[in-house]
Amino acid sequence: MAQRPTALPLLAALTTPTLTWNEEGAPRSAAFDDIYFTRGDGRAETEHVFLGANHLPERFSSWTLARPFVIGETGFGTGLNMLCAWACFEQHAPSNARLHLLSTEKYPFDRLALERALSVWPSLAAYTQVLCAQWPAAVSGIHRLHLTERVTLDLHFGDTTERLEQLDGQVDAWFLDGFAPSKNPDMWHPALFDAMAARSRPGATFATFTCAGIVKRGLKAAGFHWQKVPGYGRKREMLAGSIESPPCDQRREKTPWFTPPSVEVAKHVAIIGAGLAGSSVAAALARRGVQVTVIEREAPGAGGSGNRQGALYVKLAAETNHQSRVYLSGLLYSQRWLAQQRCSQPLSSPSLWQPCGVIQLASSDKEALRQQRFIEQHPLPSEVVSAMQNPALTDAAALTIDASHGLFYSQAGWARPKALCEHLLSHPNITLLQGDVTSFDRKDADGASGQGWQLHLADDRIVEADQVVVASAHLANRFAQTLELPLQSVRGQVSEINLPEQVAGPTRVICAGGYVAPALDGILTFGASFVPNDATTDVSAADHQRNIDELRQTLPALAEELEQAGIILSPENLKGRAAVRAASPDKSPYAGPVPVADTWRADYSVLSKDATRVPDKRGEHHTGLWITTAHGSRGLASAPLCAELIASRLCDEPMPLEVPLVDHLHPGRRIISAIIRAQ
Ligand code: SAM
Repeated sequence: MAQRPTALPLLAALTTPTLTWNEEGAPRSAAFDDIYFTRGDGRAETEHVFLGANHLPERFSSWTLARPFVIGETGFGTGLNMLCAWACFEQHAPSNARLHLLSTEKYPFDRLALERALSVWPSLAAYTQVLCAQWPAAVSGIHRLHLTERVTLDLHFGDTTERLEQLDGQVDAWFLDGFAPSKNPDMWHPALFDAMAARSRPGATFATFTCAGIVKRGLKAAGFHWQKVPGYGRKREMLAGSIESPPCDQRREKTPWFTPPSVEVAKHVAIIGAGLAGSSVAAALARRGVQVTVIEREAPGAGGSGNRQGALYVKLAAETNHQSRVYLSGLLYSQRWLAQQRCSQPLSSPSLWQPCGVIQLASSDKEALRQQRFIEQHPLPSEVVSAMQNPALTDAAALTIDASHGLFYSQAGWARPKALCEHLLSHPNITLLQGDVTSFDRKDADGASGQGWQLHLADDRIVEADQVVVASAHLANRFAQTLELPLQSVRGQVSEINLPEQVAGPTRVICAGGYVAPALDGILTFGASFVPNDATTDVSAADHQRNIDELRQTLPALAEELEQAGIILSPENLKGRAAVRAASPDKSPYAGPVPVADTWRADYSVLSKDATRVPDKRGEHHTGLWITTAHGSRGLASAPLCAELIASRLCDEPMPLEVPLVDHLHPGRRIISAIIRAQ
């Protein structure tokens, strides 16, 4: 089968559909001149066409696998099909079964239209409410929504065929929807059926309302068997069928090093490190029913995630690149994910997450131009990011701002990272163990019996687990298996000052070189310093001074206000906290399986002679060993999504990022680039 190129389209806002509404409240697409559902019996039709013909009630009730049942849909529309599938799952599936829904959509509804469309199904009101509360902005890419502890929805916004070609995951049952072929011939393209086939599990089924010749021919050519079955109501026939032997995934043929290792769904995972990276993987696995032991040498959030406040922010490149895509997906995912983290804390204590908005000031003309180029290249919805000039900047910050230009991320904000780590680890499937892991090895090494890993602690204790995730920031490469991972330590110190009553401080997070957060419990936090190749954690006057200088430069009006209120901005008047963050040479996180570096260098050595050669040998990964680190100072934006990526792989589920982005985060990428550089 011919492979189409896998370039990702520009990061962009998608067009919302122009709708007309009939007197019964059902929407109709003006562009396609077709309906989303029939008002009277739309739900019964969905149940007949998509659920019944895929035998979902029976398949749900007998689902015993540890991985989730996966439904893929072309054309999310109002979500009626997916909500009905979810309701059917709740009705029929055993309590430990899980459901993964994924659906493409090129013209996503806006939230109000979605609410209006779904309001005609009062029996689905509880499901609708959950969906609408998390409904993402109309931005191309994958948006992962956790509908319940056991039901996940991935919205793949963009063209169906393009999205399925980028999908890293396999489907058990397809809903082939997407307006009638006569009204939407562009979608029902042979490449669509090929992409469906290539992302199918053996035995995957499909159902569709249409019997059009182009569909029958396309399905057959792609390897699906189909048959005509009775349609719903007045529609005499529809198609249903299956694919027994889906084609192999050939997308990583030219980059075999990124081929994921096969996994057995983990039962017990040990995680080294209880910062945000480790805690979020622990929570992601625990939600999936995996038993987790987190081993932490100090306490949750003792390292770089230990500050009282941390900003959720990203800096996106002017031109679209993989790193920016990962960070934008991470930002949008974290916004939803943080909104869901509600801890059982006393009502008086502040919540874990404040989506107060983040202003990124352009502190130089060059930066203003860069921001302008970014906005021109990426016309993203204003609920994600918008350009802002003064005086709007001053109004938004409730503080005089000198810079003339900035970007406003209206739904970003600040969180309490340390409290967040503690909250994430409070799941009943997670055990927190204080201890210092000095090494780990396979139980079956040297012919010993048993499988999985043994972790050796400094006090001679041994912890056993099926799989291990290393999440210990700059210390992540101190183990024999991870030694080759290039990591840089970056010292960062935040400064804190008690705000006098008459000074309110900013109402948004303001970033330029560093950041200033809205006051928490009367304390203003600003910083952090950024000192590469320094792993010290003593609070230093020099770093306080850097933070003061940065504050004076970014927000001179605030510095002046403080001084007028009698605060002397000098290091001895500040409190603070210093910690070490980890960075990779290319400044993207590492998230994925750990390569056996020696076998990679040997098996991929031909790349040093010719980088375009496709090696015939396959370097190995350490069985059941994973890593998430190098989140730098933007861990709030990257760690939760990387946690999902690792948990999804460990549990044999669709990935929350597209293939090229999953590969971009692969911990082995630097080994390959080093071999190629040696050319
Ligand atoms: N399944 C939907 C539901 O439950 O409400 C109804 C789907 S509606 C009949 C068809 C959907 O396919 C529309 O939302 C339309 O925007 C979407 N669509 C059409 N062409 C598409 C394409 N090429 N890629 C992605 N989505 C497409």
